[in-house]
Amino acid sequence: MPLMSRTIKEAVKKLGADLVGIVSVDEIDDENIKTEIKNLVDDARALILFGRRFEHIMIKECDEESDDYQITISKTLKLISRKLVRFIFRSGFTSKILFDPEKMSESQLINIKQLAELAGLGQIGFNNLLLTPEFGPRILIAAVVTDALLEPDKKNELTICLEFKGTSCKKCADACPKLAISFTGRFYEAKCLNQLNEDLKLYPSYCCTLCITSCPIGHPDSSEQ
Ligand code: SF4
Ligand code: SF4
Repeated sequence: MPLMSRTIKEAVKKLGADLVGIVSVDEIDDENIKTEIKNLVDDARALILFGRRFEHIMIKECDEESDDYQITISKTLKLISRKLVRFIFRSGFTSKILFDPEKMSESQLINIKQLAELAGLGQIGFNNLLLTPEFGPRILIAAVVTDALLEPDKKNELTICLEFKGTSCKKCADACPKLAISFTGRFYEAKCLNQLNEDLKLYPSYCCTLCITSCPIGHPDSSEQ
């Protein structure tokens, strides 16, 4: 029996995801990503991208509690991914975990933010993060690849980032302690990694969340959605 996109989405939401979108492998232009996908599932046809939100109040400080919370969200996504793979197997198809947020510190070839854009979950903002209309950048994304033929979602064409909308913002650039987000829009990954490596000396995981918590999109005290 064919597996329907709607069935998959309902299952992923029941497993605990806040957002879910689907991408057809044929839509992906990047040959490196395609090779990575085909190495996992030979006859890969679709990617299922899903995210779990961060509660703003839980990440607004960089401290041990925030760090523990972020690790818990990564583990929850890993659990959802595993259960989804089992669900797809029981439906007669193959699937594998494509992107594991628990391994973000390791080199992953997959650009999850670009794939999440294709899945219609949001857009990359001035802060170089995925901005979703619902939660802004307060979300962590995971992905599963499958040989099931699923109807893809459309890209979200609405502009989400205030700066890209023409409303002066750049609050993320203002907040970044390492000037990794330049006021001209360039992102300096090495500067950000510098901060994250400093965090690792104090906490078990990356802790800096200032480019997330400063963003008015999806902020609980903001009217910007
Ligand atoms: S994580 Fe911290 S250092 Fe890196 S870009 Fe965001 S605010 Fe800057
Ligand atoms: S803080 Fe402002 S400029 Fe930065 S990503 Fe959010 S909306 Fe865009």
